[in-house]
Amino acid sequence: MSTFKAPKGTYDLIPPYSAKYLAVRDAIAAPLRKAGYGYIETPGFEDVNLFARGVGESTDIVTKEMFTLTTKGGTNLALRPEGTASVLRAALEASLHKKGNLPVKLWYSGSYYRYERPQAGRYRHFSQVGAEAIGAEDPALDAELIILADQAYRALGLRNFRILLNSLGDKECRPVYREALQAFLRGLDLDEETVRRAEINPLRVLDDKRPEVQKQLVGAPLLRDYLCDACKAYHEEVRALITAAGVAFEDDEKLVRGLDYYTRTTFEFVHGGLGSQSAVGGGGRYDGLSEMIGGPALPSVGWALGVDRTVLALEAEGIELDIPPATSVFAVALGEAKPVLFALVTELRKAGVAADISYGGKGLKGAMKDANRSGARFAVIAGDRDLAEGVVQLKDMESGDQSPVALADVVEVLRGKLA
Ligand code: AMP
Repeated sequence: MSTFKAPKGTYDLIPPYSAKYLAVRDAIAAPLRKAGYGYIETPGFEDVNLFARGVGESTDIVTKEMFTLTTKGGTNLALRPEGTASVLRAALEASLHKKGNLPVKLWYSGSYYRYERPQAGRYRHFSQVGAEAIGAEDPALDAELIILADQAYRALGLRNFRILLNSLGDKECRPVYREALQAFLRGLDLDEETVRRAEINPLRVLDDKRPEVQKQLVGAPLLRDYLCDACKAYHEEVRALITAAGVAFEDDEKLVRGLDYYTRTTFEFVHGGLGSQSAVGGGGRYDGLSEMIGGPALPSVGWALGVDRTVLALEAEGIELDIPPATSVFAVALGEAKPVLFALVTELRKAGVAADISYGGKGLKGAMKDANRSGARFAVIAGDRDLAEGVVQLKDMESGDQSPVALADVVEVLRGKLA
């Protein structure tokens, strides 16, 4: 072991386990690609104010959880704690929204950083795949995203999850509700920090998981009763479209999520096998975010699904992903055969066959162990005598059958057998 360890709250992705992460990312991205979302990549850090303004000055993410740094030039940066603000910033910067192609549909995949207290399913470095549909107010977009996330989870085999859905209203009706809620919260017996939170962002008090707080929240005014007609109609349309797609969801009036930019549709995917960190993904509409970061009005909607927690959810449901072995053919060279088989492996790779060879001068036994470990379907074995006869021994690693094949034919024979 080295003197160093992965920093607290982080972990390394190591083969073969890491293959699961790639498979999960691919599975989440696949339905997005088919639905017209283009891939976007943004830097791992941004101006700290992008998040302060976008995610919200009073949110836990901004006040407690950001990794911030000052460059030698004096610029204040933050490692990105989430993806939406960065993606919108990039879309505005590239003027994607001005080309008459709204909505701009984008997907991304990467690392995110939050200085949280580490526990099962909660890390300081984690990985998300996200999607954003920028610049259109259309309930079908909200529905599309929820349906695509559902498809991704189902394609992975997940079943033990629920979709929670709510509407947070808009700039017309939310302020009225906010005041009503604030008046209610002022009458409760809350600790100092929660009282402060009630003044800055009362909706987030609804999200407080502590039983002593939840008990007092019974009878709190519900946003549902304050939604303006436009928000109500919008939400009903989203609900109808998801229902028509056969995607089951639950209305959750208390779902507010921890980011300030959400308006109208908000949703969360929660998994039944994950303990307290049960949210595997979430998102919603953020009609005001563009203006909050200095852009034009661009009503938008998006989500981010956590890769780490999706992998944990797969484990909780006992789902083994069907990940094909990385290597199809493994070469075992004996005596002077190494350069010949090395050339063969190169040729196989060029022909599109996943091939590997034993390294380090191992004997037959050690090299065959390598072949087994690789998961290869076939081994190609050759020693001096085989080469003298112009053949290699082709071993079927499943049946154990072995037979000589002319060296000149082996690429074609293997391609045929693997097709
Ligand atoms: P959020 O932006 O907080 O809704 O996060 C979206 C998703 O990212 C969550 O549902 C989780 O799956 C994942 N996520 C957020 N924070 C963490 C974390 N600290 N560790 C692992 N996964 C996280």
